[in-house]
Amino acid sequence: MGAEFGQREPRDIQAAMLGHLPIMSHLAARPEQHEHPAGLGLASLAGATRRELGAALAEVGVPEREIRMRVAQLWHWIYHAGATSFDPMGNVSKVLRATLAAQFNLSRPEIVAEQISRDGTRKWLLRLDPVDRQDKGAEIECVYIPESDRGTLCVSSQVGCTLSCSFCHTGTQKLVRNLTAREIICQVLIARERLGDFPGSVPPDDGLVPGDGLRAVSNIVFMGMGEPLYNFENVRDAVAVISDGDGLALSKRRITVSTAGVVPRMEELGRETGAMLAISLHAVRDELRDKLVPLNKKYPLKDLLAACRTYPGATNARRITFEYVMLKDVNDSPADARELVRLLKGIPAKINLIPFNPWPRAPYECSDWARIEKFSDIVFNAGYASPVRTPRGRDILAACGQLKSETEKLRARARLAVQDE
Ligand code: SAH
Repeated sequence: MGAEFGQREPRDIQAAMLGHLPIMSHLAARPEQHEHPAGLGLASLAGATRRELGAALAEVGVPEREIRMRVAQLWHWIYHAGATSFDPMGNVSKVLRATLAAQFNLSRPEIVAEQISRDGTRKWLLRLDPVDRQDKGAEIECVYIPESDRGTLCVSSQVGCTLSCSFCHTGTQKLVRNLTAREIICQVLIARERLGDFPGSVPPDDGLVPGDGLRAVSNIVFMGMGEPLYNFENVRDAVAVISDGDGLALSKRRITVSTAGVVPRMEELGRETGAMLAISLHAVRDELRDKLVPLNKKYPLKDLLAACRTYPGATNARRITFEYVMLKDVNDSPADARELVRLLKGIPAKINLIPFNPWPRAPYECSDWARIEKFSDIVFNAGYASPVRTPRGRDILAACGQLKSETEKLRARARLAVQDE
């Protein structure tokens, strides 16, 4: 690498991409850092934000006046065309492509396993890049749910979770770390590639994607592992990239962020992302919700519903989804249904009844069908859409709340700070 471009040590770039270091920090005076660390390869630009791409270009010596144009070119290749290397970027000079390739690549987390449910739901186990030499690479799950008129990708925002909701399998896995925006975005890139959504990529031959002419991935829900609002900045940046019209171009109306109720972050979510909101409600009395969703002790129903009432952009055309898991003899009585209707009065809402998905040694059972129907009728008769969500992918533990990876908490240093105000 010539002096013109300046030398950067890959590990530092990687750390910078992960948000550990300011990307402009310089290394020439620190020769001990030049040795190539085992296990940490070149930094990937797949999933990078515009700002990160600009910083990467500046790093390799692209003059300031060219950066905007170069970012636009890379953006198109990475997000519109789904490029996995710099080679096909015909409108980028050969020299710059070679320079970029010497410092960066476009690799994505590896698909370690793919499971396909009888109903066509797919679950991928992804291994993330290691964050330091001791880290073997955390694992996360990501689920794709095809329907006739849409294809929904359920993405994870954290490895593990801090919330310990008593009915949720992910809640039994300790939080390992927050995902970077790049790691969230890469879930979308991986799914599009695998499902044949990029120009030139081939749909799987087992067929299960939405009808002709539809995108395989048309909707994104942040309903995988983790609490998105405890990883706010990265979720916000990921939503911006996923909805960017020059790239992946998913409408914000088709991106839903689900929260267990991190009240202080809700207004900001609406204002800064424009994403649709879903609330994991599950109980209509604080006493019960404290048990099911312990976060309720911090942000009780009254505060949660007040934040919903003022959620920016909630209208009858852009309703807030309230998720309600049906737990046998716990929260499924007609009185609960009536109280639910009363609580939501005045909020542009739809209610999603989710039959409880069992997992090994779960302390709950799913409500009987008749009970769910009765509950649904009460809600429906009060004027709310109340679809009962058909459980999808249960046979491969891909349904709501069944996701969990084997990744254990490593040690404090590998964990990024979790916001908890
Ligand atoms: N932490 C966020 C994102 C996870 S979303 C949140 O709580 O909203 C996952 C959804 O599946 C949530 O509504 C969650 O409450 C629900 N869920 C968790 N475990 C479940 C289970 N075993 N059966 C059905 N739904 C479950």
